[in-house]
Amino acid sequence: MASFRTKSPEETERLAEELGQKLSRGNVIFLFGDLGAGKTTFVKGLARGLGVPKDYYVQSPTFAIINEYPGRVPLYHVDLYRLEPEDVYDLGLEELAEQGVLVIEWSERLPFFFDKAIKVYFEIIGPSERLITIEDKNDI
Ligand code: ADP
Ligand code: MG
Repeated sequence: MASFRTKSPEETERLAEELGQKLSRGNVIFLFGDLGAGKTTFVKGLARGLGVPKDYYVQSPTFAIINEYPGRVPLYHVDLYRLEPEDVYDLGLEELAEQGVLVIEWSERLPFFFDKAIKVYFEIIGPSERLITIEDKNDI
């Protein structure tokens, strides 16, 4: 487990970019934190680290449910907030995780487990400061 204090959105993106460079097919990441804590900003950095071209605009998938970005391996960004647990089965998340890197917001709504998820926690410390804790069970 490692904690980082970032002092700007750019710093959060850079931290995530470093993690993104180490990720490979099969990695699953859970993001935890309040609205505005920096989860989507972090996914932007993951996308950079995974080699997603800069002209792809990374945004919250709240309405789309799943956003897919083509990188070194595909990046799938999922938000389960609006879904009932039984609908989550239809998304085929296990298959997506096999094909690429799967990032999940509101993983509390998962009706099943991913045993090797990397958990990332976001806390708002101040207007432009965030505490980001990466709990890495895979030792990637
Ligand atoms: P979430 O997806 O968790 O709701 P977003 O990444 O969409 O959060 O939004 C984070 C907001 O906080 C953005 O407006 C961003 O500019 C701002 N912000 C300020 N400081 C930071 C920081 N250190 N890291 C990430 N975002 C920050
Ligand atoms: Mg978001």
